[in-house]
Amino acid sequence: MKIVRSAPEMARLAQETRSAGKKISFVPTMGSLHEGHLALLREGKRRGDLLVVSLFVNPTQFNSLQDFQKYPRDPEGDRKKCEAEGVDLLFTPEKEEIYPVGEKITRIPLPAVAKPLEGRSRPGHLDGVVTVVSRLFRIVHPHLALFGLKDYQQFRVIQEMVKDRGLEVEIVPCPVIRSPEGLALSSRNRRLTPQGLEIALNLSRSLQIIESLFKKGERDPRRIEDRITYELYQSGSVQIDYVTVVDAVTLEEISTISKPALVAIAAFIEGVRLIDNCLLTPPGV
Ligand code: AMP
Repeated sequence: MKIVRSAPEMARLAQETRSAGKKISFVPTMGSLHEGHLALLREGKRRGDLLVVSLFVNPTQFNSLQDFQKYPRDPEGDRKKCEAEGVDLLFTPEKEEIYPVGEKITRIPLPAVAKPLEGRSRPGHLDGVVTVVSRLFRIVHPHLALFGLKDYQQFRVIQEMVKDRGLEVEIVPCPVIRSPEGLALSSRNRRLTPQGLEIALNLSRSLQIIESLFKKGERDPRRIEDRITYELYQSGSVQIDYVTVVDAVTLEEISTISKPALVAIAAFIEGVRLIDNCLLTPPGV
């Protein structure tokens, strides 16, 4: 595995690979890799000839300096995991490689799907995501890039951004990877105490309840939202940011579930912000 720190060097290697007629698959990450990331790496390995993984804790997508500073970092562990997964190129830029000193950050217009959910709760977050991903795409110039559905809205925003900007990158969604107990894996879980991890299970438990109600015919978004809110408050120690059921394509509010819908939760546990979601697809759609 080759480790590359410089953006021009990364771009040069990508160009070389393309000229040799090889397909580049790319997994952008903020590190502290877990099985959720590794699933993306494996899928990327399967689909391309050269697998590039980036490790970059992007400062422009955090809402507070404290959150940025507290974000878990494990460069040595990440390097070993990437090596074990057969990553070809590990791109670990310093922030100046992505945001050169003195260069103005031009704002990339956000698609409509960036407005609700995280867009409303974390102003500027998705701007930061779109900025870093488009810069990484410019450097790595991948044929395909893999994103986890754990961050469903992020996936939709990137998909729209690529379309709007006419970029020739295939965006590949990958399923949410969970612990055996159901907790959606996240680097942020490392900041929870054993008790916090136990409480966090209530997010996926409430989604499981909804999936089973949906199978029995529940189609009312408001009743679903109320039920999740009730379940989370019952469990105590959960501070809800949002609980919402929206159209899975537009992310707009809906009055009934007649097309694929996204159930999305954002909540704080022990001061750590966690997100989880599930998709509800009516039979025959
Ligand atoms: P992050 O390092 O949190 O920026 O995540 C990098 C990529 O890994 C994103 O595409 C995430 O959606 C994806 N990812 C993170 N956690 C999971 C998970 N539990 N299941 C699937 N994908 C995930």
